[in-house]
Amino acid sequence: MSDNDWQDYSLETQAIRAGQHRTSEGEHSDAIFPTSSYVFDSAKDAFERFSGKVKGNIYSRFTNPTVRAFEQRLAMMEGAERAMATSSGMAAINTVCMGLLSAGDHVVCSRSVFGNSALMFKNIMQKFAIETTFVNLDSISAWQSAIKPNTKFLFLETPSNPLGTLADIKQLADLAHANNALLIVDNVYCTPVLQKPLSLGADLVVHSATKYLDGQGRCVGGAIVGGDKLIEEKLYPILRTAGPTMSPFNAWVFHKGLETLSLRMEKHCQNALDVAQWLEQQDAVEKVHYTGLTSHPQYELAKQQQTGFGGIVSFEVRGGQENAWRVIDATQMISITANLGDVKSMITHPSTTTHGRLSDEERAKAGITDALIRLGVGLESVGDIKADLARGLSKI
Ligand SMILES: *Cc1c(COP(=O)(O)O)cnc(C)c1O
Repeated sequence: MSDNDWQDYSLETQAIRAGQHRTSEGEHSDAIFPTSSYVFDSAKDAFERFSGKVKGNIYSRFTNPTVRAFEQRLAMMEGAERAMATSSGMAAINTVCMGLLSAGDHVVCSRSVFGNSALMFKNIMQKFAIETTFVNLDSISAWQSAIKPNTKFLFLETPSNPLGTLADIKQLADLAHANNALLIVDNVYCTPVLQKPLSLGADLVVHSATKYLDGQGRCVGGAIVGGDKLIEEKLYPILRTAGPTMSPFNAWVFHKGLETLSLRMEKHCQNALDVAQWLEQQDAVEKVHYTGLTSHPQYELAKQQQTGFGGIVSFEVRGGQENAWRVIDATQMISITANLGDVKSMITHPSTTTHGRLSDEERAKAGITDALIRLGVGLESVGDIKADLARGLSKI
């Protein structure tokens, strides 16, 4: 079957079948191509490939069969013409910035994005005379009034992490396009299994493959997904020249990770909802933030925009930081780590770790209280996860 023949299949099938190119060895699983360069048939062949006249492998900074296999599979799953893999999620965002922005341009960015994404705009792009306005994710009027004539794109994550605030992707895509700007969505939290931003009007999706796409905490990688023309003209030249390249080994791990993604996401969602509902009933817990709870103010939007609610649950305990740390330190199984998207459950205290570099005022604006705990709900037995949390909660 040719690459495009998988288009009409369901996502579960695409995740397993798309992007495989069996070699003459007849391997059932996918081969890995750990090679930096490729041999040409003749001087003329080399000339034609370098000039772009003939498509083919040249050098693994920008052409590698294993990386391409992962790209084709991910593109199919996001419903996109093309995906371009990068060395990390941050490299994907950096590539988008380098490809789409010039000195004097402006970006509107959600206040509730991954910490390094905010720093990318606030510190690094700033050095190149690119200005960014940060706005509240769920306020359409804030986005609207922040847009200027030189705004090149809007950038957001939905739902946000750790509080699970949503943006209406379709509404923001319309707003961006009415102002000659693009909408870029970081889809790390949901993955294409739970949300397809491109089908709602977004122009590009960025991924940290490090999280759910791998799913078992093994490799660092990223990807940009979207239209072929935009990627070919604006982003691929950055990959080719600046070199934020994914290694074939990592591409192979992510490629295989995608095969089980829908199954894992289904279980992450199931365990997270169970834990969130249980936390809501605990006396020591004051508030639970999870888009899948009917108490969540944007529950209806989440149901309409996503096919599941994801694996991250945040909650606030009575008694502030002291009790939050007590709950974290009382766990015996759950890992104390700031990552997410792993089969292993993970717990962290945002205000003293991931959000520790913000000022008190910035933290308050972002809604990150000292009592807040973030849980990346894994795939262990949900009974064991709840029991591990109960150890500390029962002492409050
Ligand atoms: C981790 C993460 C990133 C950055 O990805 P890396 O692979 O760590 O570079 C970007 N966005 C979100 C939402 C993330 O969770």
